[in-house]
Amino acid sequence: MTRRPTPARPRRICAKCDRTESYKGLCSMHLREANQAAGAPGPVAKRQLTEDEVREIRRLSAEGVNRWDLAFKYDVAPGTITAIKSRRAWADID
Ligand SMILES: [Zn+2]
Repeated sequence: MTRRPTPARPRRICAKCDRTESYKGLCSMHLREANQAAGAPGPVAKRQLTEDEVREIRRLSAEGVNRWDLAFKYDVAPGTITAIKSRRAWADID
């Protein structure tokens, strides 16, 4: 069986940031986020947010801050931001 030579792979950059592409045009971080957004199972770091952070997330998202930016800032999954916005999470915090 003859192996084809592997074509030289140019270094490419993530579509969402300046890090080196890992797979499918995304860096490892954004690839993980994309997988989480698609509902892929995987270890999702459960980070406990403080009440102040939850209020800040709601305030910033109401001002139009992108949930991806908030997810990155607070080190949570984008889905967590959505859950906070829609009060599926931290519903007891006003
Ligand atoms: Zn990236």
